[in-house]
Amino acid sequence: MLSAMSALIAIVGRPNVGKSALFNRIAGRRIAIVHDEPGVTRDRVTAEAEWLGRPFTLVDTGGIGLLRREKSEDVIQKATVDQVGLAIEAANVIIFVVNVQEGIVPLDQEVADRLRASNKTVLVAVNKVDNHRADLGTGEFSALGFDKVFPVTAIHGMGINELMAEVLLRLPAYEPAVENRPEMDEPLKIAIVGRPNVGKSSIINALTKSERVIVSPIPGTTRDAVDVPFDVETDGVRQRYLLIDTAGVRQRARVSDAVELYSVQRTDESIERCDLAIFVMDAEAGITTQDKKVAGKIEEFRKACIIVVNKWDLMEQSVRKAREEVVHRRLAKKVSRSTDEKMSTLSDFAAWVQEKMFFLDYAPVIFTSAKSGFHLERLLEAMRFVAANLKQKVPTAILNRTIQAAVEKQQPVSTHGHRLKFFYSTQVKESPPTFLLFVNNADLFTPVYRKYLGDQIRKAHGFEGCAINLIPKDRPKTIEAKRERTRAPGAAAAAKRKAYVPFHGWSGKSVAKEAKPVGDRPPIARPARPAKPARVVRPGKPPRPARPGRPGARSARGPQRRSDKRR
Ligand code: GDP
Repeated sequence: MLSAMSALIAIVGRPNVGKSALFNRIAGRRIAIVHDEPGVTRDRVTAEAEWLGRPFTLVDTGGIGLLRREKSEDVIQKATVDQVGLAIEAANVIIFVVNVQEGIVPLDQEVADRLRASNKTVLVAVNKVDNHRADLGTGEFSALGFDKVFPVTAIHGMGINELMAEVLLRLPAYEPAVENRPEMDEPLKIAIVGRPNVGKSSIINALTKSERVIVSPIPGTTRDAVDVPFDVETDGVRQRYLLIDTAGVRQRARVSDAVELYSVQRTDESIERCDLAIFVMDAEAGITTQDKKVAGKIEEFRKACIIVVNKWDLMEQSVRKAREEVVHRRLAKKVSRSTDEKMSTLSDFAAWVQEKMFFLDYAPVIFTSAKSGFHLERLLEAMRFVAANLKQKVPTAILNRTIQAAVEKQQPVSTHGHRLKFFYSTQVKESPPTFLLFVNNADLFTPVYRKYLGDQIRKAHGFEGCAINLIPKDRPKTIEAKRERTRAPGAAAAAKRKAYVPFHGWSGKSVAKEAKPVGDRPPIARPARPAKPARVVRPGKPPRPARPGRPGARSARGPQRRSDKRR
């Protein structure tokens, strides 16, 4: 994963040249749609992908710049130029996409100028080369000033191999670490949870019969084993899992009400111990209070989750019947899509499940039948998908752009005249993806805004199935360590300037470079200096609003900076 993180490929270009089609083409099967709703990953801007076994992070910067869907020329221009800045800041290789059908337009030229000035590796992808005549036109793009120009058709996949072969040559050297050191790759701990009789044991039994599943021999007696290691093979690559508390699941298939309490307790422990909870419910029985309790625990422990609606064979008939009724009524022009209309497709049912379990709405919903084997392959696919998502790490520069776009799209509401402000964010942990957010006042971070921001991060960075853990922290006054004082005069001040560059709201310009706190320790705050006279703040006087800066004036950001420091 580390190696993947060190290789970042950014796709840049003005809107409508086909950046997201190219993104999907390169990321390929990694963005498997496990929801039954098509297009759920449309807004995704980063993906952990690989090409010929070489892992990398792929970024569609266009997805970041125009999140607000603004269409005016100015905004498009600014967003496009912003993307280029981001790509230059973060990427190893930049794929600059242009459209052969429109030729070189002024905005392409502007992007090219900036990219050339950066001295980064830039490969030009001339997209929409759908026919031979258009192919002849790719020559004009050498006028952009880059050596490497590749004709491609993103939607059909033409020319992509040639482009990617060149991209791989330009990435930093890669040393595959995992194959030789399997102990580095911890198996993902999976708990299969849900009420008794929903079919947990049946699913385990059915899964282990799949040709792709290799259950490892367990030392000692299998009777005592509660954790069952197993591998799943996909295209010759094995993914390791550990099915935890499996003996408990098997026993609970026959539990009576008397031991129900015990089983609930066991469920809590399993959820706490796992990385990914597969929450099984019974399609026919629907969602019960007990289901909600278990689902609530998964959310409370911030566990990744897949919801499995089992016994689908029992529902199939009635759903099919409902579907036929809908079609019949539509044909008879009695179209009224009322909310109490019977669910007639898998997507309707999935939407209903996600609505009822709104707190688990990050979990993909899979419909299975342990009895007939329906969609069990899909469950394996979903496990692989969520496991990969859990391992993702979002580059800091990209994360800060996502948060900026999310805040612009929906500002936090202000309480008693104070509004939450985000300064700088960084991912501090994987599985669950955990983000540290430096803010002006952590108390202003409401549960509603937490949910909103978590959803935005998930959507942009492909954390489908993962609970997002957001830790707001008051922005430290300084993160200078005490021992800095023993350094040579001036060194501490220089180190401090380097360590923390305050970011002034989301006006755009400066994002702090690397103000990573060490581990989970909060940054060390320096005691107030007695030398400086304290500001006299009269009680009851409201804080002075920041003076609006004059455009172009050198001091425009001065007052804002001072007012930030006071908070
Ligand atoms: P557990 O308590 O959750 O482990 O549930 P079991 O796996 O023991 O299943 C409970 C009952 O449901 C058994 O009689 C199974 O045969 C039945 N069952 C499990 N999965 C399915 C399914 O997909 N369809 C149908 N029709 N029955 C199922």
